[in-house]
Amino acid sequence: MPTLYIDGTWTSGSGGSDEVVNPFDASVIEAVDQAGPDDVERAVAAARRAFDTGPWPRTPAAERAALLRRVADLLVRDKEEIARTETLDTGKTLVESRIDVDDVTAVFRYYADLADKDSGRLVDTGKPAVVSRVVHEPVGVCVLITPWNYPLLQLSWKVAPALAAGNTIVIKPSEVTPLTSVLLVRLLEEAGAPQGVVNILLGDGRSVGAPLTEHPGVDMVSFTGGLATGQAIVRAGASTVKRVAVELGGKNPNIVFADSVRTDGDFETVVDNAVTAVFLHAGQVCSAGARLIVEDALHDDLVAEIGRRAERIRLGNGLDEGTESGPLVSAAQRTKIEDFVASAHDEGARLVAGGHRPEEPDLQKGFFYRPTVFADVHRGMRVIREETFGPILTVERFRTEEEAIALGNDTEYGLSGGVWTGDAGRAERVARALRHGTVWINDFGPYVPAAEWGGMKRSGNGRELGPTGLAEYQEHKHIWHNT
Ligand code: NAD
Repeated sequence: MPTLYIDGTWTSGSGGSDEVVNPFDASVIEAVDQAGPDDVERAVAAARRAFDTGPWPRTPAAERAALLRRVADLLVRDKEEIARTETLDTGKTLVESRIDVDDVTAVFRYYADLADKDSGRLVDTGKPAVVSRVVHEPVGVCVLITPWNYPLLQLSWKVAPALAAGNTIVIKPSEVTPLTSVLLVRLLEEAGAPQGVVNILLGDGRSVGAPLTEHPGVDMVSFTGGLATGQAIVRAGASTVKRVAVELGGKNPNIVFADSVRTDGDFETVVDNAVTAVFLHAGQVCSAGARLIVEDALHDDLVAEIGRRAERIRLGNGLDEGTESGPLVSAAQRTKIEDFVASAHDEGARLVAGGHRPEEPDLQKGFFYRPTVFADVHRGMRVIREETFGPILTVERFRTEEEAIALGNDTEYGLSGGVWTGDAGRAERVARALRHGTVWINDFGPYVPAAEWGGMKRSGNGRELGPTGLAEYQEHKHIWHNT
């Protein structure tokens, strides 16, 4: 079955085909069609037509919301198939993939409810004869470009609000993990998306992503991915002054004060969370708690226990229920991690756990790497400055609250951070002082569709989720009516 969807028709496109690889054993899952330059033109033209003359932008918000609810119902129906496909494609565990599908369903329902209620606002001008309103309208043709780590989840954060607002879309998923994005488009078609409103092009960033971001027929690009790509996309959008929202990487601090541990149970909780914060999905998470920053009094005990726990993490096939962590997504990603480990060794970091590929015979074909912990790291090291996007935890030490805050902010990124403390005043002070888009206190990682997600500094310039996540896909038009 063809895997490009343009103007309401599934098509093979003109860019040939590409093999999608299962990172567990490097086997080919399937070959998918690739878009050529003419497919890019056709998809943008279809989305343009559907926006300029089609019904979708003019459809009442309640009807658009109904389509999103139908998609949510279909996601529930197909949950197992989608979760399995996500695991095959990304290597993450089936448990994680099922959570992703549930989260995606919740995002569609959230934006359905929000679209229903979104009616703009009246503005008091102080002039009795004037009725002044700010109304919300869609931006136009939106290109949605996504990364490989949370293919379906990241896409839903864009598709649901973009469609709720009345835009038409061209989706460009990561070439590394395109399969569940295609499944989502099938559900959008089944749910009744009108012709041209939803389009998907598969292919790489250079031949498909870049032409879309430069295209004069595109009004907005929403991108999630790496910093260097984000910078290129911001530049590409400049010539046509299109709206460009970028969600980029992170180098996220997880700060532990000694007063967070009053009992053995507290210690267990901190260890559990610190380990999950960094090693979930083999560390391939933008908000991974990759920098553990620990108060002196707790440092040695915590490092020793986290090292022991890291050594015990069971690697395996994401489809097997007993697996705690899958492989890295690709051979290239593993090479990158091995380079980081080599540089940390060279720069004098102390290896506490991992630092090598696993030895089990059944893990040799896939792109596995052991969860790795480095202590005695310092600011000059590459492993602490750059996003590794893999299973590497570094541990730093602090003595005062000021020092902890300074370390937590000592990064060009600003996506997320955690603070562990039993002192409520300190928790609030540190949370407010950290320049990161999300801060968890005595927790790490949870999010809800109703709360904004996004980065400060070089982690991005937009917000997804929450009401702001809808506003990103809207024009706010002022209508001044002198009656
Ligand atoms: P990437 O930047 O390599 O690729 C992301 C997407 O951009 C892919 O679809 C790719 O084909 C496309 N692309 C590449 N070059 C392009 C170009 N010149 N023009 C247009 N599109 C282009 O990122 P990745 O390796 O797929 O993902 C990992 C990165 O994503 C990490 O840095 C991670 O932190 C980040 N991320 C951020 C968030 C967040 O919420 N802030 C969430 C998930 C991932």
